Amino acid sequence: MSQVVKCSLCGEKAIAIIPYARLKLCKKHLMEYVERKVERALKRYKLVNKGWHVLVAVSGGKDSSTLLRILSKLSKKYMFKLTALYIDLGIRVYSDKSKQAVVKLVEQTSTPLIVVNVKEALGYSVPELAWKTRRPVCSVCGVVKRYILNATAIELRTHTIALGHNLDDLIAYVLKEFINQNLGQIGKLGPKTETIDGLAIGRIRPLYEVYERESLLYVLASKTPFLPDECPHVRRDSLEFVLKEQLNKLEEKFPGIKMSLARRLALNIDKYPQLQQELSKCKACGLIASGQLCSLCKLTKQALGEPMGPKLRVYIREKINELFGKQDN
Ligand code: AMP
Ligand code: ZN
Ligand code: ZN
Repeated sequence: MSQVVKCSLCGEKAIAIIPYARLKLCKKHLMEYVERKVERALKRYKLVNKGWHVLVAVSGGKDSSTLLRILSKLSKKYMFKLTALYIDLGIRVYSDKSKQAVVKLVEQTSTPLIVVNVKEALGYSVPELAWKTRRPVCSVCGVVKRYILNATAIELRTHTIALGHNLDDLIAYVLKEFINQNLGQIGKLGPKTETIDGLAIGRIRPLYEVYERESLLYVLASKTPFLPDECPHVRRDSLEFVLKEQLNKLEEKFPGIKMSLARRLALNIDKYPQLQQELSKCKACGLIASGQLCSLCKLTKQALGEPMGPKLRVYIREKINELFGKQDN
């Protein structure tokens, strides 16, 4: 006869087993457990201050949906304000479905939403830009997303950008950068990065201590809208992907090893080389660059014959004005 597994805290039916914490949790206690982890990260790593305006990047996936739902709960207690940003990359059905999930979620959490549509702003979607430049879709996507996140935060004058990276994502990136000996990149993978005045807004990662599995359980338990589908361009043979699989095997043998790496990394993050001294201002759009032009202006100059940073910034400003009325910029 099969026995029902019971919650370690209340004896109700458990829906999750958390091996490294030796806990079995029911729906309610699983939700509280993940919410407490995010709250603890906000305090432990000093991620937000009272009165801050936080731009939350939501893709419609499980992680950033967990992020928005929990930040929205915590924003009252810690007195910060949220605006959500969704970037429509133009990856056909996938982008349409993820946008629908985001729209539902912002309705439920009463969060203002800015939608930046890449095709509308630049005339070309991300896959079309990739085709024009003969670059991999994921590399073009990274450049476009990073630019839009930063430009929106600058135009909106938010204090920080919240990203949905979970613990598994971060550890896999760290190991990848370690294998490639890009130590300067590791320094950017802690719980937060600082703002560089006028050029780049800092980022926070409130899911720094949340395992990927926990964020999936959270969206399911809390009935948070999200899109379970993977982006059609994700490559299962990439180094990050394989590292994640191997790290899960390691975690099975040594429960908690990922968490302990993340915590130690956070303590050591300042010991990694800082890349800021090489940074300058893009000659076309004025945002952060490592040479004459920023990555987006370089990419669009190559693809379309013109650096599109300035136009994209105007498009974003108009979207903000539509949502909040004219700002005194
Ligand atoms: P990725 O770059 O896909 O690993 O995603 C990292 C984080 O960037 C996510 O957790 C989100 O916070 C944000 N993000 C990714 N895609 C989008 C998108 N289409 N719109 C807004 N934010 C996004
Ligand atoms: Zn319980
Ligand atoms: Zn530029």
